Amino acid sequence: TLADLLATFPDHGERTAFVHRTGVRRLTYSYADLHLLALRMNGWLTGQGVGRGDRVILWGPNSPWWGVAFWGIVARGAVAVPVDFMSGAERAETIARLTDVALVIQSRDKLDRLAGRASVLFEELPFLLAETEPCSAVHSPDPDEMAELIYTSGTTGNPKGVILSHRNLMANLLQVDRHIPVVTPGFTFLSLLPLSHMFEQMGGFLTPLLNGAAIVYIRTLKPSAILDALGAEDVSAVIAVPRLLQLLRGSIERELAAKGLSRIFERLLAAADRMSPARRQLLFFPVRRKFGRHFRLFVSGGAPLDPELFRFWNAMGFTVVEGYGLTECAPVLTANTMERQVPGSVGPPLPGVALRLADGEVLARGDNIFSGYYENEEATREAFADGWFRTGDLGEFDPSGWLRIKGRRKELIVTGAGVNVYPDEIESLLDRTAGVHEGCVIGLDRGAGEEVHAVLIPDGSGRPLEEIIAEVNGRLDELHRITSFSVWPEADFPKTTTLKIRKFQVRERVLQGSG
Ligand code: ATP
Repeated sequence: TLADLLATFPDHGERTAFVHRTGVRRLTYSYADLHLLALRMNGWLTGQGVGRGDRVILWGPNSPWWGVAFWGIVARGAVAVPVDFMSGAERAETIARLTDVALVIQSRDKLDRLAGRASVLFEELPFLLAETEPCSAVHSPDPDEMAELIYTSGTTGNPKGVILSHRNLMANLLQVDRHIPVVTPGFTFLSLLPLSHMFEQMGGFLTPLLNGAAIVYIRTLKPSAILDALGAEDVSAVIAVPRLLQLLRGSIERELAAKGLSRIFERLLAAADRMSPARRQLLFFPVRRKFGRHFRLFVSGGAPLDPELFRFWNAMGFTVVEGYGLTECAPVLTANTMERQVPGSVGPPLPGVALRLADGEVLARGDNIFSGYYENEEATREAFADGWFRTGDLGEFDPSGWLRIKGRRKELIVTGAGVNVYPDEIESLLDRTAGVHEGCVIGLDRGAGEEVHAVLIPDGSGRPLEEIIAEVNGRLDELHRITSFSVWPEADFPKTTTLKIRKFQVRERVLQGSG
């Protein structure tokens, strides 16, 4: 259980667990500090009347205090309910109501406290805990007790509360650790994706803490701040989503362009596949240097990683391991390995995870799979078929048993000609086409089967849209082509905190626009 994991923290003693870079200051917390703070938090929660099984909302950005609160909740035997720190009071209030929350821990920038709810600020915790006696009566839960309740990120517009037990979380933690056994006490992670999301929580929080590694938290997520921290803290690994890898790449390329080095860099990149690793290391040293001496690993997940983006980071000499999962699976189901990475593939199932396909849909079984949605029997019933969890994703296995994800069943476009079109494939082409900042592809049904509709955010270069669409269509099979398009009026699509497009919102706007 998570309580057993908490009990191992003193074994790592004075090793650094957390580093907090706040701009002006750099604070460190050892494993011994973390353990003591968790026990103080346990005492404080008890004093506030928070009991076993009570729900506690964590609504704030990543920081050591998010971690302290989390482990305090574990010690108390309460249930952590993480809420995206980017979400507004309305969503937080909805989750508070749905979960009948006992306490809200929120950050200072959320000015309005939730009306009528007991609440405390993350920023107040250091002072409150300094005055609280540690309570070493740590609840020892049954493995099947609920440890955490996470509302899915909402790309499909229907947030559901995923119940994760101690067994689910610990199973996935050990599966991931066995599958990618590289984390040692010498490892440092930079935490960028929201801790409210299972992907960061598993890869960038629980995995390092299982292994006595360090986690660095920064205050802003600007690419320049990220690169500063990577170099200064000797970071070894980052958990990322493809969009983040894209933003970091963009920031590096802009810097090279400003120095007039774009051309030569592009030529080197094109030749990188044919270079020896040693030569690559040398030629791309100026880029590698920004990442510090120890950087070696990006783990990518949450959305399909464009093979071209994979090749870029590989050329820089970094290992990029793509994984696949869902909140409901705590979250990882498959991942490439440290020895072998196949671009476009999400790898083999983790040890202890069973997968099979039914009508192209990926079904999963294992100790990491959740038992159901919180107070939502109907959704729970629909999510399982004969004990197998239905991921809602369409996939196929290659001959070596590695999985390829083709897209979400719900987003699959079935055209008037009866052909299946996967939006992901067209989107990754669009994102690579000159003149496009970002593209989103949806199926629009205006009566005669779905049409393949592209929504574009131009990059400001003024390239005619017809030309862009013609270029992309030129690369697609005739029956898979874009048949209509529109322009998105704002600078960005509505996104989740893991930078996924909220497609249902895009669809609503497009339908409104077209009357
Ligand atoms: P909601 O369930 O509310 O729509 P969400 O789907 O974004 O939110 P998550 O659990 O964060 O919730 O995301 C899981 C989904 O992300 C998977 O079902 C899959 O569609 C997609 N996904 C995750 N990893 C990958 C990957 N490596 N390649 C392709 N798709 C991925």
